[in-house]
Amino acid sequence: MVNKEGERNEIKASIYSFPKTFLSVQTPTPPLFSLSTISSNTLSALHHRPFFAGKHASPAIIRRQSFTTPIVTVHISTKRFKNGKIWQRRRKLVNYSVIEQYVKMGKLGLGLAVGCAVASCAIAAVMVGRRVRSRRRWWRVVRAIDEFEEAASTPVGRLKQVVDAMAVEMHAGLASEGGSKLKMLLTFVDNLPDGSESGIYYALHVGGTNFRILRIQLGGQRSILGHDVERKPIPQHLMTRTSEEFFDFVALSLKEFVERKGDNLQLSQVRGKDLGFTFSFPVKQTSVSSGTLIKWTKGFAIEDMVEKDVVECLQKALSRRGLDMNVAALVNDSVGTLAVGHFYDKDTVAAVVIGTGTNACYLERADAVIKCQGLLTTSGGMVINMEWGNFWSSHLPRTSYDIDLDAESQNPNEQGFEKMISGMYLGDIVRRVICKMLLLSDTFGPISSKLATRFVLSTPLMAAMHEDDSLDLREVAKILEETLDIHDVPLKVRKLVVKVCDVVTRRAARLAAAGIVGILKKIGRDGTGGITSGRTKGVKSGKMRRTVVAVEGGLYTSYTIFREYLSEAVAEILGDEIAPYVILKVMEDGSGIGAALLAASNSARSVDTVQVL
Ligand code: ADP
Ligand code: MG
Repeated sequence: MVNKEGERNEIKASIYSFPKTFLSVQTPTPPLFSLSTISSNTLSALHHRPFFAGKHASPAIIRRQSFTTPIVTVHISTKRFKNGKIWQRRRKLVNYSVIEQYVKMGKLGLGLAVGCAVASCAIAAVMVGRRVRSRRRWWRVVRAIDEFEEAASTPVGRLKQVVDAMAVEMHAGLASEGGSKLKMLLTFVDNLPDGSESGIYYALHVGGTNFRILRIQLGGQRSILGHDVERKPIPQHLMTRTSEEFFDFVALSLKEFVERKGDNLQLSQVRGKDLGFTFSFPVKQTSVSSGTLIKWTKGFAIEDMVEKDVVECLQKALSRRGLDMNVAALVNDSVGTLAVGHFYDKDTVAAVVIGTGTNACYLERADAVIKCQGLLTTSGGMVINMEWGNFWSSHLPRTSYDIDLDAESQNPNEQGFEKMISGMYLGDIVRRVICKMLLLSDTFGPISSKLATRFVLSTPLMAAMHEDDSLDLREVAKILEETLDIHDVPLKVRKLVVKVCDVVTRRAARLAAAGIVGILKKIGRDGTGGITSGRTKGVKSGKMRRTVVAVEGGLYTSYTIFREYLSEAVAEILGDEIAPYVILKVMEDGSGIGAALLAASNSARSVDTVQVL
């Protein structure tokens, strides 16, 4: 309506919530709309729709109602326009009794008013019923998360059981082939780099995200003077052809790299020709520089290579390309990490990789490798590749979500420890719990196809939700919306999602910590005296020595909360007396630099120092 001064009033209202308590406030504000308007408002209230009311200056929305005294709370939103522009904007909440209005309006309106009051009561009853059901659903969700937290809990007592189980399984895996889920593979590496190495060395890494070629220049005294890396994607078609085609590609890439780096002069020097080869597939090693492929993974399927010596295949390809280089070490990622750790710090006795997958290795006494009697090494020790991702114990806190994840995986009943710890799986465990939350809460509609997709929530995204420190958890809302297609998630639900991320991450980090202490226990570096024949000695013996564990992998290096939980748990398990002796050190690129360092430490020797009698 436009008045004389060219003003126009626009009144709009919208319904937004019904409170849980009933108001009994009555205001003197006179009603400015007709009873029929109230009635239509009431209907609108039922449908939760905005409505436009009245010719007069203030009708609005029914917001709260009482059973005993029909009260309406009116939300008035007025915009005043002058010459087409908003001139004044007002918002106001007014409560008044419907019945009072009837009295004022006379008998004619009474019937309508009573009807309206009854309708209001009905609405209130419906809304209250809804609210009660919604509260019940919410508590169901909260209870489910509490149960999950309980099932995934890792009190220090349970962690100590995992420590003992790890040490005992290690012993069993060393005692006989197939004696444990831990393979405890011999690596034939007994000569770890110690920092004295010098010269130029190369490394190849096949089986990571990209194929990588590295060149490092060592200057003795623990110094790396130069470091070049080249990454190349492996052409898809080569992943399923013949070993000859595949290794020709590898050798040609290496040759081009060597030529580009201008090392032709060094090629004539013996040291310059040594190469470390990290081959991230299951391999049964037969010496420090040979091993047969057990099976392909990660999309590779070059059938003629299975059970062949991978170093021999590479060496032949290098010769075909006229490259006079010698594969001095066949390397597992975790062993490479141990090599880097040992290069910088001679007290490094174990290495752990926690990235997409997880694995660990450590330096064992050769005479403790019972399954290989008569193993002779120059140093009296040998690095053992545990393949700890496959560790299992009944003490691991397994939940229904872990069971489902395992059952739907490509390798059920395998890599049980890895499925609770590594970056490949943590995001997916959280996704599964969120699915359950949504099913129980029944407020977000059906599970979207995105949310139902395995691995759609990656661990870095999960970490981003966990690390969201904004007050309104903006990042959590964004990831839930964009990645999982869950919209308008209330703050209290977002908080619960963060809690789920915390439970999953905390469990993973603490279990990895228990695994690390298990290794220390096996070699007598946890302050309890280690184990003999599977039994713990149980007494603190001797003086505790400084002990370093090298840790590598994106989950550990890039996820601060994970790293903190892990360190905290190691200290908690070891106790105040022993913890200061155990140092976790972040290492970079065990699979690249570590392989080149192992080529260096194994290059000068003309014969293998490891013999199996
Ligand atoms: P790979 O294990 O393939 O050798 P990395 O050691 O770099 O590679 O680890 C990559 C893995 O680390 C990713 O798959 C991911 O799960 C995890 N990751 C990487 N960045 C983060 C991050 N910011 N937060 C949590 N996890 C991360
Ligand atoms: Mg890696």
